[in-house]
Amino acid sequence: MDKLTIRDFDPGRKRVFVRVDFNVPVEDGKVVDDSRIRASLPTIRALLRGGAMLVLASHLGRPNGKVVDSFRLRPVAERLGALLRVPVRVTGDALGLGTQDAVARLKPGQVLLLENLRFHAAEEANDPGFAKTLASYADVYVNDAFGTAHRAHASTVGITQYLPAYAGLLMEREIKMLSTLMESPERPFAAVIGGAKVSGKITVLDELMKRVDTFCIGGGMANTFLVGKGHTVGKSLLEKDRVEDAKRILAAAEERGVQFLLPTDVVVAKEVTRGAEHKVVPAHKIPNSWSVVDIGPQTTAAFQAALEPARTIFWNGPLGVFEVPTFGDGTRAIARFLARKADEGATVVVGGGDSVAAVQQLGLTEKMSHISTGGGASLEFLEGRELPGIAALLDRDSGRQGHAEERTAEPASATSAGEGARP
Ligand code: ADP
Ligand code: MG
Repeated sequence: MDKLTIRDFDPGRKRVFVRVDFNVPVEDGKVVDDSRIRASLPTIRALLRGGAMLVLASHLGRPNGKVVDSFRLRPVAERLGALLRVPVRVTGDALGLGTQDAVARLKPGQVLLLENLRFHAAEEANDPGFAKTLASYADVYVNDAFGTAHRAHASTVGITQYLPAYAGLLMEREIKMLSTLMESPERPFAAVIGGAKVSGKITVLDELMKRVDTFCIGGGMANTFLVGKGHTVGKSLLEKDRVEDAKRILAAAEERGVQFLLPTDVVVAKEVTRGAEHKVVPAHKIPNSWSVVDIGPQTTAAFQAALEPARTIFWNGPLGVFEVPTFGDGTRAIARFLARKADEGATVVVGGGDSVAAVQQLGLTEKMSHISTGGGASLEFLEGRELPGIAALLDRDSGRQGHAEERTAEPASATSAGEGARP
């Protein structure tokens, strides 16, 4: 990776501002899924072991520049504290004298979490004054919030004007895994793409077209392709204005010799709701008043056969309306199949909010080679776009490297802190 990481500076006795992605679901004051908090632990632990004083910052939800009590970070601080087994204080506000004071009193090995950054509109506006204040809390900046790297906000981009900026370990891993897909995937390389709409994924499909050997297309987006091939799709989700794009993509696959699998059979339902009447039909005989809600068993088998030889697989987007368990067979079957492939040594990367949720529901997260924590960010990365939050970090081989201090493979241990120092 061409970005400097936390391995490239000594955090000992330094105040380190870490932008994390703690945008987790909270219900009744409790964190209901702490995977994003857990994902940031390697970086936090490494910095604490190295004797840093940590100022953590994140957004939660969309409070749109106002204080919204249900988006306060206190439940997150509690969960993080429990995981780290260190008390984590959360400030009342990201700004203000109280916060400055709390930052000033930090000691090596201690962790302070700033209140939700998006309580200030200045965060999303990438306001320089706000960024400068955040920067004033620390000596060094670390970005571990890959999920927000596609946004140029004060805490992801603005702050790097004022502090030397390094990648955290999660950020590093995300960049490494996604770069492998882009630059040097072991072949055969296959992409399983589903989800609701083609529209948001056309650029990704075009980019992947240059790289993959096989596409397996399911979910609502497959309907637009089926129509592109001359089928009808009844009442199913269809993007009429994308049929031409679908045709173009089909033609490109043909021309490049990329295997392009569409459903040959589908599950259709009278209504897209739990308990609705449903049946399996051939993809060229979708009845008029029914909706496609899942891939059929023949399609699942065909996808698995096509994916069997793959050494690298990228999956984005569920293959059916998996939120309704009856319509989740295809998604679950493919998730289990991909977990087995990963177990056998293939590189399996899953990206996208809903696909990741499907994998989590099945308890298969640990099985996959990599689960991207950033839905939108991972897709933008695979579109070949430069993510502003990554671009802003120090390059390994450039003039800006002057910011970097001495390199230590293992951050040096500080005397007064670190996990080892705790009773
Ligand atoms: P991801 O978050 O993994 O990128 P998307 O957001 O693109 O995935 O799509 C997820 C949504 O697609 C899910 O809510 C799912 O219900 C929906 N979906 C999947 N298949 C269909 C279908 N056949 N018809 C309508 N919606 C579908
Ligand atoms: Mg989604």
